[in-house]
Amino acid sequence: MKLKKIVVIGSLNMDLVVNTPRIPALGETVLGSGFFTAPGGKGANQAVAAARLGGSVSIVGCVGDDIFGKELKQNLLVNDVDIINVKVIENTPTGVAMITVKDGDNFIIVDPGANFCLTTDIIDELEDLIKDSFLVVIQLEIPFETVERAVESAHKHGVKVLLNPAPARALPDDLLEKIDIITPNEKECELITGLPVRNIDDAKAAVSFLMQKGIPQVVITMGSAGAVYNNGSKIMHKSAVKVKAVDTTAAGDSFSGAISVALTEGKSIDKAIDFANLVGALTVTKKGAQLSLPMRKNVDEMINK
Ligand code: ADP
Repeated sequence: MKLKKIVVIGSLNMDLVVNTPRIPALGETVLGSGFFTAPGGKGANQAVAAARLGGSVSIVGCVGDDIFGKELKQNLLVNDVDIINVKVIENTPTGVAMITVKDGDNFIIVDPGANFCLTTDIIDELEDLIKDSFLVVIQLEIPFETVERAVESAHKHGVKVLLNPAPARALPDDLLEKIDIITPNEKECELITGLPVRNIDDAKAAVSFLMQKGIPQVVITMGSAGAVYNNGSKIMHKSAVKVKAVDTTAAGDSFSGAISVALTEGKSIDKAIDFANLVGALTVTKKGAQLSLPMRKNVDEMINK
């Protein structure tokens, strides 16, 4: 069976990860442990997440002409992601993310590097790719006007757009009304809606607010509390799958990748949330970004348990 194509437009980063026993004060040095480098970037993470779950995935992005860029492209290839539209930008560093992990939670500083060379011109060149895809998946680690152009292009051609609005920022109404599926976490949701999202009831109110902005499918991820979403008749909460969290890096990315694959397979939104909750839970049981993303068979084994 030929799978419907998912086109991920977004960032590719090399993650530099270290554990810390506590958060250092300004000017202070703390001894950390367990340093490693790993492929990351929300775009690449979501592309690899979807491909490992059985999606047919093509990525649009930019890397620098350095060793990190080569490694990132190789890693996408190994994961069966089509990299024909990954551009190599001369004299520019590949994007990096400095990730500090404390007790299974993380703090992240991103230097976008080549990711900020993903211009609106590149989107215009790739109009046919967008037109022929089933779903465009996009995040906010690339220039904002590029996000707007890609959403506009998909919308014009009747192609659905999943926006994972990370990192958090406020978003204009004329962008929101062209989005088909949005997957913010609590903090991102607060910034977009201006409403507090501290508990399930708050999240339900935020889903309703975003639906009124014209987004047909809203899914708010709530970490270990699961997800809140609308399913056509009502606003629902589904609890997370109980696991021991080791590192929450890429939980949201794996969740959005899972939703994308479930929707291309024609699953209902209820079934898609079950699937994504399982994928998100499996992701937090392992360290790293893409290193922790589960394969389809790992998820199917959990479903059949
Ligand atoms: P983000 O990484 O964007 O902040 P979340 O932390 O909300 O996203 O996590 C996304 C999804 O991953 C959650 O909706 C849930 O399904 C799963 N998840 C995250 N943290 C845990 C956890 N501690 N236990 C089980 N599942 C989790």
